[in-house]
Amino acid sequence: MTRERLYLFDTTLRDGAQTNGVDFTLHDKLAIAALLDELGIDYVEGGYPGANPTDTELFAKPRKLKTTFTAFGMTRRPGRSASNDPGLNALLDAKADAICFVAKSWDYHVRVALECTPEENLASIRDSIKAAKAKGREVLLDCEHFFDGYKANAQYALACAKAAYEAGARWVVLCDTNGGTLPHEVEVIVAEVVKAVPGDHVGIHAHNDTEQAVANSFAAVRAGARQIQGTLNGLGERCGNANLVSIIPTLKLKRELAERFDIGVSDEKLTTLAHVSHALDEMLNRAPDRHAPYVGESAFATKAGIHASAILKDPATYEHVAPGTVGNVRKLLVSDQAGRSNVLAELERIGIKVEKDDARIGVLLEEVKQREAIGYAYEAAHASFELLARRVLGKVPDYFDVTQFDVNVEQRINAKGDRVTVSMAVVKVKVDGKELISAGEGNGPINALDVALRKDIGKYQSHIEGLALTDYRVRILNGGTEAVTRVLIESQDESGARWTTVGVSPNIIDASFQALMDSIVYKLVKSGAKA
Ligand SMILES: [Zn+2]
Repeated sequence: MTRERLYLFDTTLRDGAQTNGVDFTLHDKLAIAALLDELGIDYVEGGYPGANPTDTELFAKPRKLKTTFTAFGMTRRPGRSASNDPGLNALLDAKADAICFVAKSWDYHVRVALECTPEENLASIRDSIKAAKAKGREVLLDCEHFFDGYKANAQYALACAKAAYEAGARWVVLCDTNGGTLPHEVEVIVAEVVKAVPGDHVGIHAHNDTEQAVANSFAAVRAGARQIQGTLNGLGERCGNANLVSIIPTLKLKRELAERFDIGVSDEKLTTLAHVSHALDEMLNRAPDRHAPYVGESAFATKAGIHASAILKDPATYEHVAPGTVGNVRKLLVSDQAGRSNVLAELERIGIKVEKDDARIGVLLEEVKQREAIGYAYEAAHASFELLARRVLGKVPDYFDVTQFDVNVEQRINAKGDRVTVSMAVVKVKVDGKELISAGEGNGPINALDVALRKDIGKYQSHIEGLALTDYRVRILNGGTEAVTRVLIESQDESGARWTTVGVSPNIIDASFQALMDSIVYKLVKSGAKA
């Protein structure tokens, strides 16, 4: 059976850049465009040349990419000719393979926001598309508020779509701009649109305001649309855009879709999806969503002991797709519900070889249970689990000893008259019988302790040079008579590897210290440091 080609359009760099707190530099944009290109995305929308210096610079030079690198912008302003509109001309001059225009398709918006007649808006759509075609560009038209516009005045919304198609637009993209349309409505409306504009010229641009942007994208495809627009990790203002990181594997791995459609992402590239998703988080300095479908750390994690043993026998029984297909890994959680099989599977994953009937497995399991009862959470802190396992099995060298530490917090008025809080920590470390003393300053006690602790561990220092803390989470647990604090620390090294460690104590500094120590020792074990 011949499969139909379905096209993917990424707008992480344009619509995704609208997200609160997201501010891509030129360097970020180039790096993300390269990732998307490498993945096999058909269209990468880079931004809005002329709207800000970064985007103008991005489109100042041609890019050597396989993808259709697309510039975004407005159709010509009402009441002006195309040649007499500086904004449109800047867009036409941009070094882009394609231009994606945005135009209103809701007559109410045309009258109120644009303050022009519905006919003038249609003329603006036609003129802009023709001008871009004349410049040799592939053209797309984003029909803003298409679905709301269609509900209010179907005839006019359709007239906008048709005008674009007839003027030569390669794609007419139906936008659910406020994200409130439901999948069954999308399906019905797109089915009407494809009677006027062929489906292989129709795209869907869905926002996630009812958490159905992905479902809406598939609803449009069912009705005949053949281009899906979205962003990496669903990045986008408010509740985000359709998440390509969920859409891509669904298209590739769900039989009904995989048998019908071809996309530009190969099976081989699909195995890099988790990496691509995490690389974006990296750039945004965010911790990846553990529960993200397909690529999250917990997407293939199982807790209960009976499930764990069944998974080892036949993974297909509990997994909807094989984790490796998207570059993820199966994770069997070590928790107080866990049985021996969980622990064995986890040891195997870490790469620790041990006989099934080794008595130390029982000791380790007992230790995990006791510690989890007082608040440790090894399912969230695999690095601490690995160290615990290695210690029980006698495989962690005594690298160094922290013999003493002291942390203070001081609040004072500085020279400018502002009230400031500063912390200082002093740490005494014994390495090879030699005592080293380091001091560190920080904006808080944990930060100061971390700085001091990592300042000097003698001959091991070179191993931890690239170590950095990427996340720090504190939780107060109410167990028994007194509250205890659980600290989870996520660290990263120069290779991009991440790991999480845990500490528990009634004292937050002490809990943090345990997690920091585990992180450093884990890094030393990983780098094969010799004691
Ligand atoms: Zn949008």
